[in-house]
Amino acid sequence: HASAPANIFERRESRVRSYCRSFPAVFKSARGSELIAEDGTRYIDFLSGCSTLNYGHNHPELKQALLDYIGADGVAHGLDMHTRAKARFLNTFERLILKPRSMDHRVLFPGPTGANAVEAALKTARKVTGRTNVIAFTNGFHGMTLGALAATGNSGKRGGAGVPLTGVTHEAFDGYFGEDTDTADQLDRRLSDPSSGLDKPAAIIVETVQGEGGLNVASDAWLRKIEKIARKHGALFIIDDIQAGIGRTGGFFSFEKAGVTPDIITMAKSLSGLGLPFALTLIRPQHDLWKPGEHNGTFRGNNHAFVTATKALELFWADDAFEKETARKAARLRAGLEKIAASASFAGRLKGKGMMSGIEMESGDVAAEICTECFQNGLIIETSGSMDEVVKVLAPLTITDAELDAGLKILADAVRAV
Ligand code: PLP
Repeated sequence: HASAPANIFERRESRVRSYCRSFPAVFKSARGSELIAEDGTRYIDFLSGCSTLNYGHNHPELKQALLDYIGADGVAHGLDMHTRAKARFLNTFERLILKPRSMDHRVLFPGPTGANAVEAALKTARKVTGRTNVIAFTNGFHGMTLGALAATGNSGKRGGAGVPLTGVTHEAFDGYFGEDTDTADQLDRRLSDPSSGLDKPAAIIVETVQGEGGLNVASDAWLRKIEKIARKHGALFIIDDIQAGIGRTGGFFSFEKAGVTPDIITMAKSLSGLGLPFALTLIRPQHDLWKPGEHNGTFRGNNHAFVTATKALELFWADDAFEKETARKAARLRAGLEKIAASASFAGRLKGKGMMSGIEMESGDVAAEICTECFQNGLIIETSGSMDEVVKVLAPLTITDAELDAGLKILADAVRAV
């Protein structure tokens, strides 16, 4: 018998774990844009829990709001019962987010994760239209449950299902065939031609910036066409704003500047502000068809998340100061990345948008090597893309200029070293 490994993670945790392989340390605490390991090493965090910590780790006011609530014996869990914390969240979300944007959407609490939000979105669209097929896009990522995974393009992730995934057709994302081919026009032609074999879809689901798929950006014009195509063919238009939303690529919603209004919007990740599991599916009133109990789930009433999410909305979204400051920081980040890309021994390419930007490296192996080198020098940064070829920066939006520059310096040195 081989002796059992001493490390509890090796001994007991499933082999499926992945980020711990890229970042081999045991972390004990975190504040702002830093993660601190058990041995005291401090790491600048350019991953932010994959965009779950847009306001940084343990933001003092968000943390205090939760401590106060728990201290007063606030309801922690309430299924979907009415609670004061939920009322406060809904009122604040209506006042600061929905009303100023003239959005009539209802708020559906789908459960704690992004995948829950996507499942509720796809199920709503199928229930509303009575259609089965959903159109998603090449390199899109929508989650790991079977329905959301069927909408996900990445073959490695799909392979985890062990069975064929059905009910979703993948069409070419904006720019997939290069700039000269308008993939939206192509899609419209195929949907208009009964002999194309493409079923009329219940929904078209799209990310404005493909977070896991390599930071491909949909142009505003392309998004407007996709919205029009969805309406023309009787499909619901879904934007999955789970990674690109909540300030990372622009306004609160990533699609605001494009001038589109999705029928359904999925949100999760940074919504709670403090990293608590919390998701939303926003739907139009006329699509709110489920009878009570028809779409259920135990963890739809995370009152701790209602409290921190409310505080985050009040702190960051009561005016446009945070959005402006994020845009300034994003320009600094992209200028830094552009310089690094130009300094590479290969043809590095700037990708993404706003604070969701990165560099396409020569290959997945090179990108992985760069991330490893960064980690050894105190920077946590990950890859993205169908071949993991893009090194992606998802720093907290609250990162200071000094921390941002320090992280970029580590990245620049790593790119030069490979
Ligand atoms: N949709 C997008 C765009 C995502 O980036 C993710 C997660 O990375 C998901 C859905 C799934 O969210 P979760 O991992 O919380 O289920």
